[in-house]
Order: sequence, then structure tokens, then C-alpha cells
Amino acid sequence: MSHIVISGGSRGIGKACALLFRKEGYDVTVLSRSKPEYDLNGIEYIQCDVSDPSSVKDAISKITGPIDVLVSNAGVSLTGLATDFGTDEYRLVMDTNFGGLYNLARNVIPGMVSRKSGVIIAISSMWGQTGASCEALYSASKGAIDSYVKALAKELGPSGIRVNAVSPGVVMTDMMSSYTEEDIDALREETPLERIGTPDDIAKTVYFIASDSSSFITGQIIGVNGGLLI
Ligand code: NDP
Repeated sequence: MSHIVISGGSRGIGKACALLFRKEGYDVTVLSRSKPEYDLNGIEYIQCDVSDPSSVKDAISKITGPIDVLVSNAGVSLTGLATDFGTDEYRLVMDTNFGGLYNLARNVIPGMVSRKSGVIIAISSMWGQTGASCEALYSASKGAIDSYVKALAKELGPSGIRVNAVSPGVVMTDMMSSYTEEDIDALREETPLERIGTPDDIAKTVYFIASDSSSFITGQIIGVNGGLLI
């Protein structure tokens, strides 16, 4: 049975991934700061702050057996003018979004290299490609993820490891709670497929990228955004 580790699996997109992979027969471990409130039904939970290198090292060391798939999904967003934020906000956003991927990847890559197989999937954002007004820090953190994914794919391809980013558009989760209904309606109208994404839309793409059906795909930033970014 394959083993997948998903950061930020307590809710939103990470929860949808955890439930889908569990349903499909994977061993699933979720990492987050708070314990998931949904029925874990065999999913293992390990408390972890992905922005803290020692917390990530401890969490990964508690996992027995090989890790076949890593989904680095934990993330935070902050909305405001670029000049509203200081060093604390910079550290929070960069250390969680990019640092989370960096800390997790460093700990799982050695095992994957020694087995000459593995899949790493980072959950990025379309704003990492195009930039969002009033989300400059968040956009930069996702841009860093995209570059890291491309570089890692080149470095790890010869070791049989695929590295990709799944890059959502607008998805209804707690992360959207600061948006008004009017904001959401405007985004829906701008989207060619005329709807807002669901966590399951992202989970299904992550599942495809984790599977052998995508065995020739690496180093890609895969947009799942209803056509909002083309
Ligand atoms: P949610 O806010 O619903 O969930 C965020 C998850 O990240 C939670 O499980 C949270 O768990 C976890 N998390 C946050 N900080 C940490 C940390 N320091 N250590 C461990 N876990 C942490 O957001 P989404 O599900 O919407 O977002 C998931 C990913 O998708 C993020 O990377 C986000 O940037 C990306 N994304 C989302 C979009 C959207 O429209 N929703 C669009 C584009 C990208 P806990 O608080 O318990 O630690």
C-alpha cells in the first residue's frame, strides 16, 4: 500500500486530499497544528508546525515505513497593502508557504532518493504566476514554490522522483473567509467555467499527479482554476 503525507490536512483542500486518498486505499498521514475535527477513519494525524524545521523533522521521524507521496499543502494568506506588513508577517507567510515545502522536502527526499521513486506535489496558487494586488507577500511565497518545484524536478528526475505544483484558482475554503459575497460573485463571473472551485476539484488533480497515470509529468505548474488564468 502506498503512503502519502499531506501537510495542512486539518481542513479545506488538505482534508479533501486526505479523504480521497484514504478512500482509494492509501495509508494517509496528515500534519497540521490543530487536530482535524472530521472523522479520521484510519488516517494518522501528527501535530506539526511546517514553518518550524525541528517540528517537521520530529513529525517525519515518527512516520514508520517509506513515504511514497508528499503533498505540501499547508498555507496561510494575508490581505493588505504591501506597506501594511512588517517582518513578522513576512516570516509567517514565507516560512509557512515556501518554508513548509522546503522543510518537508528536505526530510523526505533522502528516503525517496534511496528507493529511486517518489512524488512531491506542492499546492501553489495562480497568484504565484500572475501576482495578486494586496496579496504581494502571498504571491511571492507561491512564486518561490513554483521555482523550487521546477529546480527540484530537474535535480530529482534522474533519481526517479517527480515534482510538480498544483496551482488552484479560487476555491471555497476557510481561506476565502475574508472575501465578501460580492467579491466571490465577481470572481465567479470572471471565470470562464462560471463557478468557484471546490476542494474536491483540487484533490482529484492531486490524485492524478500522484498516480502512475501521470508518470511522464514533472516540473509542471498545473493550473486548476476554471480558466480564470489562461
Ligand atoms: P485553509 O485555511 O482551509 O487550510 C489551511 C491548512 O493549512 C489548515 O489545515 C492549517 O491547519 C494548515 N496550516 C497553516 N499553517 C500551518 C503551519 N504552520 N503548520 C502546519 N499546518 C498549517 O486553506 P486552503 O485549504 O484553502 O489552502 C490549502 C492550500 O491551498 C494553501 O497552500 C493555499 O495557499 C492554497 N490555495 C488555496 C486557494 C483557495 O482559494 N482556497 C487558492 C490557491 C491556493 P492548522 O491551522 O491546524 O495548522
